[in-house]
Amino acid sequence: MTLTLTPAALELDTQYVLPTYARAPFVLTHGEGVYLYDAEDRRYLDLAAGIAVNALGYGDPALVAAISQQAARLIHVSNLYLTAPQAELAARLCALSFADKVFFCNSGAEANEAAIKLARKWVYANHPDAGKTGLVAFSNGFHGRTIGALSVTPRARYQDPFRPLLPDVTIVPFNDLDAAAQVIGPQTCAVLVEPVQGEGGVHVATPEFLRGLRALCDAHDAVLIFDEVQCGMGRTGTLWAHEASGVTPDIMTLAKPLAGGLPIGAALVNARIAAAIEIGDHGSTFGGGPLVASAANVVLARISDPAFLQHVVVVGAALRDGLAALRSPQIVQVRGRGLMIGVELAIPADDVVAAGYAHGLIMISAGPNVLRLVPPLILQQAHVDEALEKLGAILEDIGG
Ligand SMILES: *Cc1c(COP(=O)(O)O)cnc(C)c1O
Repeated sequence: MTLTLTPAALELDTQYVLPTYARAPFVLTHGEGVYLYDAEDRRYLDLAAGIAVNALGYGDPALVAAISQQAARLIHVSNLYLTAPQAELAARLCALSFADKVFFCNSGAEANEAAIKLARKWVYANHPDAGKTGLVAFSNGFHGRTIGALSVTPRARYQDPFRPLLPDVTIVPFNDLDAAAQVIGPQTCAVLVEPVQGEGGVHVATPEFLRGLRALCDAHDAVLIFDEVQCGMGRTGTLWAHEASGVTPDIMTLAKPLAGGLPIGAALVNARIAAAIEIGDHGSTFGGGPLVASAANVVLARISDPAFLQHVVVVGAALRDGLAALRSPQIVQVRGRGLMIGVELAIPADDVVAAGYAHGLIMISAGPNVLRLVPPLILQQAHVDEALEKLGAILEDIGG
């Protein structure tokens, strides 16, 4: 069989790939900076970054060089053997955060699975007879699609076809500290929260909420887990989204942008949690291998530079302010922080996403009425201007 890849790729996809995704109507072939190109050589300004993944955009020379050189040297050896890129990445992550140790895996869901397992292990090591099995998570939260992560992701469309899920999960309204206080108690093992919710509509946790959760976890000796899979790594203008609250978790999960587009996940833990973990407790064949770790070392070094983070703050504010200045009757609210922006619309977000393709703009939604803008963090002011012009035209076309 000879395969001509496009436009036949569309037909092959339809015939052979399990239809779990609603695909955009084009085949992407390459990217450069903040632009993507399709098989018909149309150019798109990318405000999605592969769902908040491609923080350094496309074709970053240092990232490409690190990946190419490491690929030629050593791609994979399993975690039975030590490789320097992983050890260096762990050291960097700890130096730049509250954490003392890191577990590496391959995705956000896996990082949250690890977090739940590590929390359980810690609880059984420290409260062996207490029946301390409860997990607390929040409305509009998203933690992934594996059974454990799905169990703390309260969306009927995602959960209902796959029951039974993990027991002892309680969902509390996001940002409602009083409700959390009624639920978090001696039976609580762990509390999972996104400091800025992504998939659920770009909702920012208030500092008081995160501080209150910290206090409740301390009072009841429960493990506080911050899921920074989407909002971490500079996305909100600080390296970690929780920095804005002044509190630290016991475990933080990372994934999406950490290796600049290669698959990686990480669970960062403090010394208290780490002390409960022994050889054999958890594992991953691929997790944190030399190829992805080499990429992540480049990405982390770049993003943790204060000047880079300041750029995210400035460009993010320009994009948010510009969206508000459109004064479109279709825009109900602009929210978010840094370059993690939610635009609540009076019309279906997917209509705007579809119209964006025709205007050379790639965007994603976060729920039915929220447009989510999570561009590469290297976005410049000129790109902000282009995005605002195109989005303004789209909103005018669609809604008047
Ligand atoms: C995307 C996401 C996940 C799941 O990550 P996968 O790599 O798709 O498994 C978990 N938590 C948050 C906050 C996310 O945005």
